[in-house]
Amino acid sequence: MKRHLAFFSLISPMLTGIFAFFALFLLSPNPDSIYARSEDIFRRDELLMGTVVSIQIVHSDSKTASGLIDRTFSIMKEMVNRMDAHREDSEVSLLNREGAKRPVRVSKELFDVISLALKVSKISDGAFDITVGPLIKLWPVYKRSGFTIPDPSLVQKTLQKVGWQYILLNPQKQTVMFTKEGVSIDLGGIAKGYIVDRAVEFLKSQGVNGALVNAGGDIYALGTAPQGKPWRIGIQHPRDPRKLIAVLELRDLGVVTSGDYERYVIKNGIRYTHIIDPRTGFTVRETASVSVVGKPAAFIDALATAVMVEGAEKGMSLLESLPSVEALIITQDKKNPSELLYTCTPGFLDYTVWRAFSDPKRQ
Ligand code: AMP
Ligand code: MG
Repeated sequence: MKRHLAFFSLISPMLTGIFAFFALFLLSPNPDSIYARSEDIFRRDELLMGTVVSIQIVHSDSKTASGLIDRTFSIMKEMVNRMDAHREDSEVSLLNREGAKRPVRVSKELFDVISLALKVSKISDGAFDITVGPLIKLWPVYKRSGFTIPDPSLVQKTLQKVGWQYILLNPQKQTVMFTKEGVSIDLGGIAKGYIVDRAVEFLKSQGVNGALVNAGGDIYALGTAPQGKPWRIGIQHPRDPRKLIAVLELRDLGVVTSGDYERYVIKNGIRYTHIIDPRTGFTVRETASVSVVGKPAAFIDALATAVMVEGAEKGMSLLESLPSVEALIITQDKKNPSELLYTCTPGFLDYTVWRAFSDPKRQ
């Protein structure tokens, strides 16, 4: 078997805290004291897509670096404006209004994201599906109050408007059409990764050899940090935002984490999260988080969401079929939901320089 499953449990929280503190220290180097004078890290954080987007670039000149960061943010904002289904004037909203009536010619960027999304739908047996929007509206976990569990008959009815097979692409004409009335798209599960890819592509084209772009957990490490060191990236613990679950070293690779803790509501002891199984119409239950390493970021973003839906077992078979990705899946124990189980591809461990769970038992 090419890959092995590995289950292991969390070491004591105290030890985790000490290590997490140590790891955070490693993640926040002071450029003046650690790196050569000629190369510094320049960083800016901005709020975008409802999350903090941070860009760090390695450069020798602060003015040039600042200009490059400005332009990178503009590119990212332009992409967000195109792909945000909640903005009336976005390209996606126009497509959602017109797509069932006629083939709509879209930009190359939107066409590429939709094509990639459909590819992931196919390989994940529909676990990832950008037509999930109508179901998302049934589970308003993003609302502070007024969350009610939808009637199963309403879920069944809504499922009729969901299905990636209803999206018809014409690559020659660069058009998109929905073959069923009521179908629409929501790029929430892939757009952040895509936007990170566009940012990295721009920075590369400008001769930047080292950068770290992070859109709320969708991360790409371009080249190296100063002095040729790999970028160090901490992965958040799914049940305690103050703790890390692992620290990775990456170079020219992305890591994307999808989790049930990003947006959720707890009702009668059950956690209802923002990720939905498009085949059943119900929210994902057992998977707490999925971190996927690979590239491009858009692909691993969609894959992480798909594996959240599929869970550890099916998720692992999906990952096994893809040679160039590695992943960590954290699930809740069925009998004791407060206990977390860790499943990963062995290759994932090669990227970890520290982790909060003990050595894997290989099977
Ligand atoms: P992520 O954080 O990348 O896992 O994306 C979660 C977002 O993707 C949600 O807020 C929804 O907008 C959307 N989404 C939820 N479930 C799915 C799904 N099964 N397939 C595709 N997108 C989804
Ligand atoms: Mg995703």
